[in-house]
Amino acid sequence: MMIRRLKKFLLWGMLTLGTGLTVLIILLTTPSILYANHTAIGNIEVYHSQPLPAELRTTIESALERVSSSEIYDANMKHDLCLNDGSKYPALVESVLGSDVFAAFANKVVVLGKYEEAGKFRQWGQTLSFDQFLAHGLMHNYQYRYHGFFGANPLGNHVQWKWEGYVDYQVIGKHYDMDDLMTALESPKGNFDWLNFKNGESTIKMHVKYLTLVKYALESKGWSYQDLIASKVSMEDLELEMNQGLR
Ligand SMILES: [Zn+2]
Repeated sequence: MMIRRLKKFLLWGMLTLGTGLTVLIILLTTPSILYANHTAIGNIEVYHSQPLPAELRTTIESALERVSSSEIYDANMKHDLCLNDGSKYPALVESVLGSDVFAAFANKVVVLGKYEEAGKFRQWGQTLSFDQFLAHGLMHNYQYRYHGFFGANPLGNHVQWKWEGYVDYQVIGKHYDMDDLMTALESPKGNFDWLNFKNGESTIKMHVKYLTLVKYALESKGWSYQDLIASKVSMEDLELEMNQGLR
């Protein structure tokens, strides 16, 4: 009798958990359920609850301009951009994936910061460039498209300096000289402190180090994205080589 009851209890538990997970997956993959509106801007479907900011089209164009020279850019890829303007969707994504400036998964870029003024949003006490972080999210989507669900991070397990470094190289690093980046890296700030660039971009010092190493690998050593991903070189060895080469 006890065993039969226990089995019934376990079965109910599993069913409830299964149903909860299914609902969560449906909500995460179908933002239209939690948004009042969606509007297509080119290949980007924007999910929103308030009228769209007037400059959003320009922001999207600037973000696409940053990423379109990447060898993993895919002009046909369709993305979802989910704004943080009243829907419960961003908070749901944040509760699953953790706090960040933007969240990017599959073909989605979800704004987690608060819209501040034209082209800017605010998160973690910083005013940040919308087009920079949208471009960052789009690059992660292209990585997802290129590597697939199991090959892309987190399951792909690529080291952060390559994974994030390539993204920020494409978004920020390409637009600055090596000297500008090395000067930024000489700042006495800590690894998690923010550094600001003259064109309005900002990122933490650690990401500046990552993108500088990727810039060195791609531009000075002539590596492709595939070479970078396949390389077994450690960050420390590459950094040593870069510093010796640039001295
Ligand atoms: Zn990232």
